This record gives sequence, structure tokens and C-alpha cells, in this order.
Amino acid sequence: MPKQINVALIGNPNTGKTSVFNALTGLNQKVGNYPGITVDKKEGICKLPRGVKAHIIDLPGTYSLNASSLDENVVIELLLNKNDKDFPDVAVVVSDVENLKRNLLLYTQIKDLEIPTILVINMSDRMEYKGIQLDIPYLEKELLTKIALISTRKNKGIDQLKALIANYKELSITPCLNASEIDNTYFDKLRKAFPNQLLYKLWLVITQDVNFGKIDRNQIDAIDSFKTKSKADLKRLQQKETIKRYQFINNTLKKGQTIDLSSAKDLRIKLDRILTHKVWGYLIFFTILILMFQAVYDWATYPTDFIDESFASLADWVKDTLPDGAFTNLLAEGIIAGIGGIMVFIPPIAFLFLFIALLEESGYMSRVVFLMDRIMRRFGLSGKSVVPLISGNACAIPAVMAARNIESWKERLITILVTPFTTCSARLPVYVIIIGLVIPEGSFLGLSYKALTLMALYIIGFLTAIFSAYILNKILKIKSKSYFVIEMPSYKIPLFKNVALTVIEKTKTFVFEAGKIILAISIVLWFLASYGPGEQFNNAETIVRTENASLSEVDLDDKIAAHKLEHSYIGIIGKAIEPAIKPLGYDWKIGIGLVTSFAAREVFVGTLATIYSVGSAGDNEDTIKSKMAAEVHRNGEKVFTLASGISLLLFYAFAMQCMSTLAIVKRETNSWKWPMLQLASMTIIAYLAALIAFQFLK
Ligand code: GDP
Ligand code: MG
Repeated sequence: MPKQINVALIGNPNTGKTSVFNALTGLNQKVGNYPGITVDKKEGICKLPRGVKAHIIDLPGTYSLNASSLDENVVIELLLNKNDKDFPDVAVVVSDVENLKRNLLLYTQIKDLEIPTILVINMSDRMEYKGIQLDIPYLEKELLTKIALISTRKNKGIDQLKALIANYKELSITPCLNASEIDNTYFDKLRKAFPNQLLYKLWLVITQDVNFGKIDRNQIDAIDSFKTKSKADLKRLQQKETIKRYQFINNTLKKGQTIDLSSAKDLRIKLDRILTHKVWGYLIFFTILILMFQAVYDWATYPTDFIDESFASLADWVKDTLPDGAFTNLLAEGIIAGIGGIMVFIPPIAFLFLFIALLEESGYMSRVVFLMDRIMRRFGLSGKSVVPLISGNACAIPAVMAARNIESWKERLITILVTPFTTCSARLPVYVIIIGLVIPEGSFLGLSYKALTLMALYIIGFLTAIFSAYILNKILKIKSKSYFVIEMPSYKIPLFKNVALTVIEKTKTFVFEAGKIILAISIVLWFLASYGPGEQFNNAETIVRTENASLSEVDLDDKIAAHKLEHSYIGIIGKAIEPAIKPLGYDWKIGIGLVTSFAAREVFVGTLATIYSVGSAGDNEDTIKSKMAAEVHRNGEKVFTLASGISLLLFYAFAMQCMSTLAIVKRETNSWKWPMLQLASMTIIAYLAALIAFQFLK
């Protein structure tokens, strides 16, 4: 007897698989990816009676074993591959009591694979409300299995389910209907040709166009040569199979289930009417969006600032306590600052996913999709893209993660690729200082030019996102099914446990997956800014002191910091790119700012403060502003003019300039291809926009 039982949770979307999974595993779970594709793989451990342990997988939702999407392939590939280490000893089909008929189709198919199968009928708490009654012993007899009637919401029946899993060996593995009756001659031939194979498995391999990479190659070739029927004939047979299954299910439910319609209430109908209303629907949705936006943008700043300050003090403390030297600097300015840079994203991620989980759990999200889908689809997006696009105005990181709710891979990818165009809050410090510097005083229709410019930047960001989506939709050749959800789940009070687990899981994913990349890049950037080759860098202090003997200690320190940065590796890079950015109106000092601000856009201001040697006073916006206003090129012309200012604003509006976004896109698309393409194309767009603006305005 194996020490661990492999259990696979299978079922239609929204039947409560994940809730059952959470109920069984609690916090003993982890989320990864299936190799090569971006479908979440959730697994966990459940302790059963008598010390037995079960390894549980929460498989993606699937309507049947006739695959039509990536998610569904995952399920079939696992069920057809006995050698997979996750191959289930027992399949647990989760169904929901309100949609038993549809749910049972999948159940009968799995039963044909002769895997011990337990039927879970979830949401039993809804039975009374819906007037549903079930004859469980009868259903068990007809469906040839054991049934657990449970409610994860009310925490009922979970122990019974655990007991059934522990005793899975007692389950019958006989199919509950004879599907081969749809074409006896054909199936007899099949049976004779492959006497050692499971008939239904053969049938699935013959009828599916999926990639059965994991199944023995020879076998597939043999089966391929057996495709004596045309595609159309096979399709017809498949339909016959489905009809046959539904006949069986209908007959079973006729006796096993009674529904008393009169007791079903019509609250849902009323709510639907309001929430998908042509006027109220949008109004309510946008109110909720604004609240969400507010949460990520405003409320999250308190814990974010706190984390930011704590890491800054920690870095100071390390510097004061440990002996001076390279290691202390690496620790304080590289590692601690880098980890701080990851941690500051936790509050926005947590807040956004708190809201999203609430919306999903309550059943409201499906109404939003219904409402927004028609508009968004024109741009190649999904109704669910609204959430990432709006959240992107606070921060692209949680926004990109929120795209995970979009089922169609193409729509999801497009959403991920265009979201960073929206104006995240890290752009604000750059915008504010440049606008303050170069946009003239004056007003138009009561709005100051400065405010109008800021507003224009937000609008440009949003429109660019939408427009790019439109283009990407035309040029990306990705086949992926985009569903239109016809069936809407019923409304529910969100389960706290599900919401909490979503928030924890998203935060963990970010910290541990994207965090690695962010930390690595920040250490590299730190190194480039803190070290440099040659005399000028290494003897910065002596050089500055001899040249500026008359300056005060504080001013000297600032000058030294500026001198060091100028001659560090990053300074050298900044100078090296000067010819390339000159046509945009920038000098090498701005070049250094562009390079360092790849860590995060707001770093631009801090870098300028150092390079203009206002370091310690750099927190004071006026000091740095007056310094910037006085900056001149070698030929005496001002550096920050309307032309170069607008050019910079546009550069920051379009360029990706954020290693954390890069890291999360890598994690969410599971490849370096998309983040690199995104980085390259956004930089090119930014460069061209800045170039045109400067050349036109100068
Ligand atoms: P999955 O898509 O199959 O993984 O389903 P989820 O576990 O995400 O659940 C879908 C929805 O059903 C969520 O809104 C859950 O809160 C809700 N749900 C899950 N179990 C129950 C239950 O026992 N009773 C009720 N009323 N709702 C439930
Ligand atoms: Mg789920």
C-alpha cells in the first residue's frame, strides 16, 4: 500500500474544486506552473484517518474530456498517463448541486477510464434555497460510486470525504454506461487491434487533437494508423457519445433528484437586472473600480511608506553598526535596499487581490465580464481586462498579476503587454518635477497648464494601452479560445478562507518568483553605481577636496558623491549613451538618470539630486528644481527647456523603465520572450516619441 494516496480534484469550472482543495489541505499547499505552460498547478497534502496522507492536486476546471483549451489538456494528459508521478489513485469529481446534470457528463467520462472515482456534490447548503432533494443511495447505486454530499461553505461533509478517500480501494471501477454502443462494429475492431489497452482511452487519443507528449510514441503511431474514419465521422460519433451520456444522466436524475421550483427565490434575477443594467450596471462597476483604485493607490501608501522607511532605517543601522567596507555596503545598499524594493509591493498587491477575490467569490465578476466584454473585445481584450487596466494606474505589478483571471491566453497576454502603458504612481514624482520646471504658468478654462499636462499624460497612457491592444490583436497569431460566459454563477457571500488564501498566494508568488529577479537586478545596479574604474572614481575624495578647498563639509560630501557617480560604471554608461540621447535633448547626466531609474522610475529624481550634488538636500523639491533650472549644456543653452521637458515626459510615459514589471511579466508569461519584446518595443516607442517631440519643439 502506498504511503501517499494521489488524489486529483476534477470538475467543471466554479463547482468549488479550489474550495474543496482548501478545505482538505489548509495551508499545506503550494502553487507552481505545469511545465512549459502558464496554467497554475496547485498541490497540497491532506492528513487522512489512521496516519494516511493524501497528495492532492487541484486540476484546472474542465467541462469534459474533449479538450478545447490548454487547461483541459492538462487534465486529459494526466488522466491518460499512468506513468505520471501525479497519476491519481483516486479521482474526486467535484460537482455543484445546482448543475448536477452538466457536471455528471465529465463524471461518466472519467468513470470510463476505470479510475476509482468519488463523486462530490458540493454546495449542499444551496439545496433548501433551490428546492433540490437528492436520493443519495439511489444515485450511488446508479453511478456505481460513493457520493460525498458536502458544503465547503458550511464545512459539512469534509470528514466523510476524507474517509471515502482513505478507503478508495473499495470503490468500483466499472464504467456506469457502455459508450461503445454508439458504434459496436468500430469499437469491436478497436478492441481486437489493441487488446491490452483501455477502450475509452484509445477513443480519446483517436478523437483528440491534443499533444500527448507524455504517452508512448509507438502507441500513438499505431493508433494513428488506425484512424480509419474521417474527421467528420469521428465528430459525429463524439456527438453521439455525448447524447448517450446525457440520456443516461437524465434517466438517473429523473429518479435521483427532485426540484421543487416554487421554493426557488428570485433575488438573483432582481440583482442581475440591476448589476447588468445599461446605466446602473456601469455606474456601480465604476464606483467599485474607483474604490479599488483608491485602495491600491492611497490606502496602500501607508504600509508601503512604513516598509520603505523601515528598510531605510535598517540599512542605516547596518552601516552604522558594521565596520565600513565593501561587504557592509553590499548588505546595506545592495541587498537590504533590494529586498525593501520587493517588499514595498506587498501592500498594493494584497489590497488589489483582496478586492478581486471578493468580486470573484461573490459572483459579481461574471456580471462585469458580461457588461464590459462587448466594448473590450473590440480592442482584442476581455471584459476582465478592465481590472488590470485600471489598476495599472496605481501600479503595474498587481495589475499584470490580475490578468491571470482572463481565460483566453491571447487576451491575457495582450492585457499583460499593454498594462505598463497606464500611468503608474512611480511616474508621478518624475512628472511633477519636470512639469513644475518646464510647463509655463497660466490656465485654460480654469485649469492650469500644469494640471492639464498631467491629465494629458494619464490619458495618453491609457489610450496607448488600448491602441496597442488593438494592434497586438491584429498581429499576434495566437489561437486561443475566448469564451463568452453565458452561465453566471449564483451570488454568494465570499468565503473568508478563499479570499485570504488568494491574497497570501499572490503575495507569495510575487515575493518569491519575481523577487529573485528584482533582487538580482538591484544588486547589479548597485554595483554599477558604487564602483568605477580608475583614478577619478577611487580618489574622488582627494580630487574633490583639492579642487574645492573652500567648501563646507556638507557641500563637499555632496560634491564627492556627484563626482563618484559621474565616474562610476553607471556614469560611464550614461556618458556612453549620450550620443544616442542627444537628439532627444538629454545630456549624460540625464543619461545616468535613465539608467538608474530602470530600478524604478522614481529613482530618476534621486539620481539627479546626487549628480547635481544636492544629495542631502535632495529631499527638498525646490533645491533640486532650482539646480535643474540652472543647468546648462557645454554651449551655454539650458538643459531643461519646454522641448527637452516634454521629450522626457513622453519618454517616461512610454518606456518600460521598471525592473519589477519586467520580473512579474517573466513570471506570468513563463518566458523571457515576452518581457524582452515588451521592454524593447516600449523603449523604441518612448525613444521615437521623445525624439519627435524634441525635434519638433526645439
Ligand atoms: P473552482 O472554480 O471549481 O475552483 O471553484 P471555487 O472553489 O473557486 O468556488 C467557486 C465559487 O463557489 C466561489 O464563489 C465559492 O465561494 C463558492 N462555493 C464553494 N463551495 C461552496 C459551498 O459549499 N456552498 C456555496 N454556497 N458556495 C460555495
Ligand atoms: Mg479553482
